[in-house]
Amino acid sequence: MQQKDIDAAAASLREELITFRPTLNRYPEIGLHEIETTQRIKEKLLAHGIEPDYIIKDEKIGLTFSIEGELPGNRIALRADIDALPVSEQTDEPFRSERDGLMHACGHDLNTAIVLGAAIVLNRLRDRLCGSVKFIFQSGEETLVGAKRAIEAGLMDGETDMKYMFAFHVKTDVPLGKIGAKCGNALAASDTLRIRVIGKGGHAAHPYKTVDPIIASAAVVGALQDMVAREHHPADPLVLSICTIHGGTVFNVTPSEVTMTGTVRSFNPELRDRLPGMIERVVRHTAMAHNADAEVIYEKGVPALVVPRAMFEDARKAISDRLGADRFFEYETPSLGSEDFAWFSQFAPVMQVSVGSRSERPETALPLHNERVIFNEDCILTGMRAACAIAAETTLRPA
Ligand SMILES: [Zn+2]
Ligand SMILES: [Zn+2]
Repeated sequence: MQQKDIDAAAASLREELITFRPTLNRYPEIGLHEIETTQRIKEKLLAHGIEPDYIIKDEKIGLTFSIEGELPGNRIALRADIDALPVSEQTDEPFRSERDGLMHACGHDLNTAIVLGAAIVLNRLRDRLCGSVKFIFQSGEETLVGAKRAIEAGLMDGETDMKYMFAFHVKTDVPLGKIGAKCGNALAASDTLRIRVIGKGGHAAHPYKTVDPIIASAAVVGALQDMVAREHHPADPLVLSICTIHGGTVFNVTPSEVTMTGTVRSFNPELRDRLPGMIERVVRHTAMAHNADAEVIYEKGVPALVVPRAMFEDARKAISDRLGADRFFEYETPSLGSEDFAWFSQFAPVMQVSVGSRSERPETALPLHNERVIFNEDCILTGMRAACAIAAETTLRPA
């Protein structure tokens, strides 16, 4: 499949997709509840002769379908996430969210437009497509359980021959026109921590008659950071953040307990297995030093997203050969952010492809999830061309 044919088809869809995306942006839906969004994508696909299936069938959420090439080759997957965030949009875009407290602040409306465009292009060119491409419009990425739910609903049943799976995501820290990815450790595993520090409540004027869980909790927060800094190799990424802490009701009563929650991000599976024990030891003994008791619940979440070298090089070559040598860049450092696309790594090598959308307007450089972030929509065309280039190259099976 020649890139000039892809580019011609992609260019002919540019306006249509730039017009389509605002309808998603205007009516954002929170993760695991994207019923209207799913319907809008479905109608667009049907208008282009593609019949998708619902991923969560009884709720009509998320879509999937395959485009079968007419030539033999590999099977790959391209994925977009479709959910919005509980953020109140503060941009002055003419198509800003009409739903209070909901916004496409992570740009999933653009991810959707990119992968939708790629599906329409590859469907038009399927007489020249090798192998087949599975498309996934996935619900609930921001909840970090959407991919898992889709898999449990049977999305990957019978997929025994998947070569690669790619997720596309717009990025405001990447200039418009650039495509990037990280080889190896790309995005971290994300686990949740719940801690309860139990003391004995009483009158705040007589602390010697109480066991103060507030003092003990303050020590626990510090001791956990000491554990990360002193017990762990600094070159092996690990982040532990306590993000909520609740205790007490009034200024003169020492409460009986304090609860905390936090997140733990890591890459090393051996470390990840040891972390619950390490954290439990530090929390319990620190509490004990204050005469308090403690409980720790450690819940494993999304696995790390680790990109194999061969997959990374295949994608880099596809972009460089077809879109130009200066298009592709490699991230130097891993991100301790997480992406629920990593759940798919049990079926095939996975990779997140970043599509740059930062341009002259300062708001295009704001971080994702910011209430004022905007996106340069020309990223849709670049993303579509990149997705098709990667599909064209990685479905090719060497003779
Ligand atoms: Zn996000
Ligand atoms: Zn996102």
